[in-house]
Amino acid sequence: MSTDKSKGGNAILVINAGSSSLKFSVFRETGKEQVAVVINGQISGIGTEPKFEAKDTQKRLMAERAWTASEPSDRTALLGFLLDWVEEHLEGAKLVAAGHRVVHGGTRYSAPVLLTPEVMAELESFVPLAPLHQPHNLAAIRALGEAHPELPQVACFDTAFHRGQPWQSQTFAIPRELTEEGVRRYGFHGLSYEYIARRLPELAPNLADARVVVAHLGSGASMCAIHAGRSVDSTMGFTALDGLPMGTRCGNIDPGVLIYLMRQKGMDAGAIEKLLYNKSGLLGVSGVSNDMRALLESVDPHAAEAVELFCFRIAKETGALSASMGGIDALVFTAGIGERSAPVRQRVGDKLAWLGVEIDPAANEANRSTISTPGSRIPVYVIPTDEEQMIALHTQELLGQGTH
Ligand code: ADP
Repeated sequence: MSTDKSKGGNAILVINAGSSSLKFSVFRETGKEQVAVVINGQISGIGTEPKFEAKDTQKRLMAERAWTASEPSDRTALLGFLLDWVEEHLEGAKLVAAGHRVVHGGTRYSAPVLLTPEVMAELESFVPLAPLHQPHNLAAIRALGEAHPELPQVACFDTAFHRGQPWQSQTFAIPRELTEEGVRRYGFHGLSYEYIARRLPELAPNLADARVVVAHLGSGASMCAIHAGRSVDSTMGFTALDGLPMGTRCGNIDPGVLIYLMRQKGMDAGAIEKLLYNKSGLLGVSGVSNDMRALLESVDPHAAEAVELFCFRIAKETGALSASMGGIDALVFTAGIGERSAPVRQRVGDKLAWLGVEIDPAANEANRSTISTPGSRIPVYVIPTDEEQMIALHTQELLGQGTH
């Protein structure tokens, strides 16, 4: 470790754990409610052939490592290695906590929480609500706890930001017993929306109390109605399958289709899950790719239809979310497609001309932060999201560890 104490201060490890890979970032505290990323990396091939890679902020490789079959490489061993490696590369800073992205906080958690055995038991009980993600998030927390029991760990939920929505936005029209059991609309991508809600007033101070529709368009895509910085409604519901069509997920679908698939095609839950999560969306409609770049470059008419359906549904949901807020004062694009795809933003903007949206083609092509014309009734922004930074900020706030 460097002895350069001038670089001291606190550091926070942020972890986003999936089924076979784990992304991590290291942030240093730079002030009160301020952090800066210093290292990004991932461990891939967990459970098969694990590989570790870390890069600095200029995307230069800092380290890589592979595990041989004879070496211990379970999650505890891998997270133990990660923590040791991070601590060796902190240049005088002190690792004070780990913040985790956890997909589901149920109806209980409307804010991040310090992890204890009691909280972990409660988070376990949400596994049936998010069986594809929650177990992996919790496995990483457990493994890190075994490797370094003294390090405080914080869970930041994708659902938390939406917990304050009015009841109508959270409720399906089904028998109450099911709603009470937890079959309700949770909404996801909450860390991304919360980050945008904090950034927007910096870009446009007059919009602090405004009604804003945010489109988070990544390989998973959703939209959120935010009024005065609070979530009012969202397109994702009980699961991350609802709402917009996505890379491989269907989005909003008539539940009668599922009954048809069961009755007429003899499909069971596993087969339907695979169809709706992995074979639908942009991939299913185009038959070409789940990647928006590939679709925009393709000459296949089905690729063009997939893009058109995606943009149509974004415009349609903008109308629905505006109705949830009684109006709209601004539109924001974020995440992979939202931040980088001028053609998608232009098409959505054109479909919203009736609302008074007017995109400035040059600003849009240049990926500027304001892409609407000065005369546009609704200003349109592009704001890069940063869920990892949001987790680091929450972890800092929760531990009250600010050094300045
Ligand atoms: P994730 O949900 O996995 O975090 P991202 O936010 O990174 O996803 O977004 C991934 C999506 O962004 C992919 O569908 C990819 O095609 C799309 N994307 C990235 N760059 C561009 C670009 N220049 N033009 C269009 N789409 C893009």
